Amino acid sequence: MFKKVLIANRGEIALRIMRAAKELKIPVVTIHSDADISALHVLLSPESYHLEGVTPSETYLNIDKIIEIAKKSGADAIHPGYGFLSENEKFAKACEENGITFIGPSPSSMKAMGDKLRARELAKKAGVPVIPGTEKPITSLEEAKAFANEVGYPIILKAPAGGGGRGMRLVKSEDELKNSIESAKRESLGAFGDDRIYIEKYLEEPHHIEIQVVADKFGNTFHLFERECSIQRRHQKVIEESPSPFIDNKLRLEIARNGVKIAKAVGYFNAGTIEFLVDKYKKFYFLEMNTRLQVEHPVTELVTGIDIVKAQFKIAAGEKLDWKQENIKQSGHAIEARIYAEDVLNNFNPSPGKIVGLINPSNPGTRIDTGVYQGYTIPIYYDSMIAKLLSYGETREEAINRMLVALNEYRLAGVKNNIVFHKIVMESKNFLEGKYSTNFLNEFDYVSEIKKIRNENIKNVILAASLTYKMMEKDIKSVDEREKSRWKTSGRIESIYKNSFRLLY
Ligand code: ADP
Repeated sequence: MFKKVLIANRGEIALRIMRAAKELKIPVVTIHSDADISALHVLLSPESYHLEGVTPSETYLNIDKIIEIAKKSGADAIHPGYGFLSENEKFAKACEENGITFIGPSPSSMKAMGDKLRARELAKKAGVPVIPGTEKPITSLEEAKAFANEVGYPIILKAPAGGGGRGMRLVKSEDELKNSIESAKRESLGAFGDDRIYIEKYLEEPHHIEIQVVADKFGNTFHLFERECSIQRRHQKVIEESPSPFIDNKLRLEIARNGVKIAKAVGYFNAGTIEFLVDKYKKFYFLEMNTRLQVEHPVTELVTGIDIVKAQFKIAAGEKLDWKQENIKQSGHAIEARIYAEDVLNNFNPSPGKIVGLINPSNPGTRIDTGVYQGYTIPIYYDSMIAKLLSYGETREEAINRMLVALNEYRLAGVKNNIVFHKIVMESKNFLEGKYSTNFLNEFDYVSEIKKIRNENIKNVILAASLTYKMMEKDIKSVDEREKSRWKTSGRIESIYKNSFRLLY
C-alpha cells in the first residue's frame, strides 16, 4: 500500500477519501485554499498544506503546486476526488512522471473518454448503441440545419469537451438554431477553451441510467449495477437511486453488460461510470463515460456493500480484485438527495453564506456525507453542494420513508437550501410511483408546493416569535432597568431565535 496519500480536493469528497485512507492505515495529507482554512477537511486532516489564493486555477487546479506539495510531504499517491483535476489527463501524466501514483484510470483512457465525440465513436465500434448524432463538430449553419431536418427537432447541441451541462443547448425549432449555436460556442469556449459543437437527437422523456464499473489492472472488470439519475435540474442530477424503478432485471443486466464492454474497450482500470439514456420504449443509448469517482457513488455502496473508494486505493496499489461478478448483489434500495446551498425559487442559483444553525439527521438507514458544520461559511468560489443525504431500506418504500424522516429533521439555517425541495419531490405522486423521466421537474409545479410550505413556516415563526416576546415582556416588568437591557440582548433574544430555528428549514 501507499506511504502517504495527498487528497487533491476539498469538501465532503475530501473527507470521504480521507476516511477510507484512515481505514486502510494510509497517512493523509490535504491541501486548502485561502477560503478553506477552516474547512472541515482541513480541521480533520492530520496534515494540510496551504495554497495561496482562492480561485480553482490558483489552488485545486494548480498542477505544479500540488505535485510540489506531494513531493515535499512524502506522498507517493494522489487521489483527485471528483471535479477539479479528476479527469485531467495532463495531471495524471504529471503524477506518473514524478513517480506518484494517480488513484484513477490511465491517462490514455481518460483521453479517449474525455472527448464526447471520440467516446461515441469508441462505443459504436464496441457495438454499443449511441444516440443519433453528428460524427464530427459542425462547421456551418447549413450543415446543422440539414442534420436537424434529417433526425427531426428537438435536437441538442453539445460541446465535445463538455461537462456540468456547459455548452449544451436544447433546440426545438430551426429559428432557434443560429442563436443557440452561437451561444453554445461562446459558453464552450469560455469553459473549455474549445468552441467545437456537435449535434445529437434530443430524446424525449428519457431516463438517465448509469452503470458503475470497477476494474483492476489485470483485466478483471466488474459492474456494480445501475443508478437511476433522472431527477435533474438544468440537466444536472439532484436525486439518484438504485435500483432504477424503470427497468426490469433483463434490461438492467443488458445495459450493465454494455457498460462493461465499453470499459474493456478502453482498457479501463479503477472506478468509472458509463452513462446511458433509456428512452420511453426502453431502448438504451450510450451517453458518455466519466473516468472518475462519481458524486453519487454511495448509492451503489449501500446496495452492494462494496466500499468503492477503498477499492480504488487497492487497484491503484496494484492489487488484484478477487471478486466474482455473480457474487456481487444489488440488495435493498438506496436513494441520495444532494443538499445544495441554492435558491430553488430563483432557478436553483447558488446561495453560499454562513451556516448559523445545523442539525444533521441520523436515523436508521441514513448516511450523510458532508463537509460543513455550524458556524462554517460556505465560500463563494466552489460548488455549492454541501452534503449528500442517503437513505437505505429493504424496499424502495422504506428508503423513501427513511429519507422523509431525515429530511424532516434536517435543519440548515442561514443559507438558502434545497431541503424542502427534496421533501416535496419525495412526497410527489410520480416519484412515489417511480414514474419519472428527466422531464420530471418540467412537469411538476415544485414552486407552488415550496411556496405553500414556506408561507406556513413563516406564519409559525411569527407566532413563535410573538409568543416568546410576550413572555419576555411579562418577565421584564418584574426586573429593574439594567437587568432589562441585559435580558434583551442575551437569553431572551436567543430563545426567540431558537423557537424560530425549530420551525425553519
Ligand atoms: P454533461 O457531461 O455536461 O453533464 P451529459 O451529456 O452527461 O452532459 O448530459 C447531461 C444530461 O442532459 C443527461 O442526463 C440528460 O438529462 C440530458 N441529455 C443529454 N443528451 C441528451 C439527449 N440527446 N437527449 C435528451 N437528453 C439529453
